[in-house]
Amino acid sequence: MQVEALYQDIILDHYKNPHGKGLREPFDAEVYHVNPTCGDEVTLRVRIAGDGDDARVEDVSYDSMGCSISQAAASVMHDLVLGKGVKDAMHLHDEFLALMQSKGQMEPDEDVLEDGIAFAGVSKYPARIKCALLAWMAWKDATLQALETEQATEEESR
Ligand code: ZN
Repeated sequence: MQVEALYQDIILDHYKNPHGKGLREPFDAEVYHVNPTCGDEVTLRVRIAGDGDDARVEDVSYDSMGCSISQAAASVMHDLVLGKGVKDAMHLHDEFLALMQSKGQMEPDEDVLEDGIAFAGVSKYPARIKCALLAWMAWKDATLQALETEQATEEESR
């Protein structure tokens, strides 16, 4: 099987059977992001456990609408960051972002990005890059908000 076809299959599979979809409680922050060029939408919640270096992604839940790439990317992102330390998850965000900005020139590392490698081809199509990044941007935004809230609460209790 050609690698492009294999990647297509991975994306289609996540699109048809999205992992972790649906909004859950409890959560620390919720964001709503839109990709106006394609019409993709995502509402995303994160629950962070622990703080400082021990902060961990306890849950990431989302509700989304849009094209197959945006939907599949949300599912893959969920699998990648769930249960990870926030620092490690941010690193994955940066890796995926680098892949999307690579214009098809970067050989993705499957050990790091797992099913995320299926989006390598998307980086050749500028119009679709935002689709693949939508859920990741929403996750980063929500996570930073959750960490800020946590810090504020801590300072209050001091
Ligand atoms: Zn899209």
